[in-house]
Amino acid sequence: MKVRCGSCRNEFEVAGPGKYSCPVCGSVNVVRDQTTATPPAAVGGYPAAPGVVAGDVPGVVPGDVPPPPPPPPQPPMPKIECPECGFGFFVGQIAVATCPNCEAEVETGIEVAEESDD
Ligand SMILES: [Zn+2]
Ligand SMILES: [Zn+2]
Repeated sequence: MKVRCGSCRNEFEVAGPGKYSCPVCGSVNVVRDQTTATPPAAVGGYPAAPGVVAGDVPGVVPGDVPPPPPPPPQPPMPKIECPECGFGFFVGQIAVATCPNCEAEVETGIEVAEESDD
């Protein structure tokens, strides 16, 4: 095996581990056994994964929720009362309705955008 002198950087052949004097400068170089000096690069087990606890998951439990309230009833037509005969009846989106009982014209009070009919 070849070793390099620590003093003069001269390479010289040695038989193995031991102490050798440099043939150039005479310095003693200690040669270690390099064949068993390199340990395995990676040795060991895999890192333990953190424990995942599965089980009770907080959440909404169905079955205890009250039903949604029904939508408020919306009368499609307003109801008015005839001032002449007192008959109550439904009218549409009209300003003046005709009483179906006495045929009197009754103002419904509903503001309707009417087309001017001069
Ligand atoms: Zn040397
Ligand atoms: Zn009437």
